[in-house]
Amino acid sequence: MVKLVVGNWKMNGCLNDISFMQTIAETADTLNNQLKTVICVPSVFIHHFSNHIKTHHAIFEIGGQNCHHLKTGAYTGEVSADMLKDVGAHYVIVGHSERRTDCYESDIIVHDKANTAFDADLIPIICVGETHEQYIQGISKKIIVEQIKHSVPHTVKKFAIGYEPIWAIGTGLIPQFDEIAAIHLTIYETLKGLLGTETTNKVDILYGGSVKPSNACDIANIDYVNGALVGGASLNASDFTQIMTAFAH
Ligand code: PEP
Repeated sequence: MVKLVVGNWKMNGCLNDISFMQTIAETADTLNNQLKTVICVPSVFIHHFSNHIKTHHAIFEIGGQNCHHLKTGAYTGEVSADMLKDVGAHYVIVGHSERRTDCYESDIIVHDKANTAFDADLIPIICVGETHEQYIQGISKKIIVEQIKHSVPHTVKKFAIGYEPIWAIGTGLIPQFDEIAAIHLTIYETLKGLLGTETTNKVDILYGGSVKPSNACDIANIDYVNGALVGGASLNASDFTQIMTAFAH
């Protein structure tokens, strides 16, 4: 399976970052269809960047970082999945832990966001992850299974899961490689139970949390890891292209 590397710029970047996008597009080209790459940018930049990279369709796409769980309505300041699609997004992150924590998004809201993404013909990247306390208590698997059961819609459509231990995001810490393998296998088995083998085999199960050039090769080689969700290192073209190369092999 060709792996997927997703960059999440969060609230960073500017229109001038087009040269960054060009570097990523050129790297994606040199990887000869061995990798799919997505950069999730603030929604105000999607149109500009997606216009610029449209010749790289399918191996390099632009995504959003969030969408509203409803299609339209009186929700001042919000952006819908249809709007993201309209301006050129192909993917959207839903349920990132920063939104679950800062914006009190529940599994049900994340589930509904994923459904509106499907309706808009976007591929949702549905994020799950345990806190450090839950990790220490040894209940990571239980937490992740519950989040998957309640956040993932019943569907045959294409989506991705971002497994992001909250304590690994932006901290430089990561779980042991065998722990990542065990959680990814649990996610795979849980999805298989919910959606069947055919749908589950199309799901990209991404690891996220302090992925760097220095650990990317090791993470890429873990069983059931189909790619990476990259925050901080996606803001640096050299770091991000090294991660892309690691996941393309
Ligand atoms: C993220 O926030 O999705 C993330 C993985 O961040 P970082 O790579 O900086 O840990």
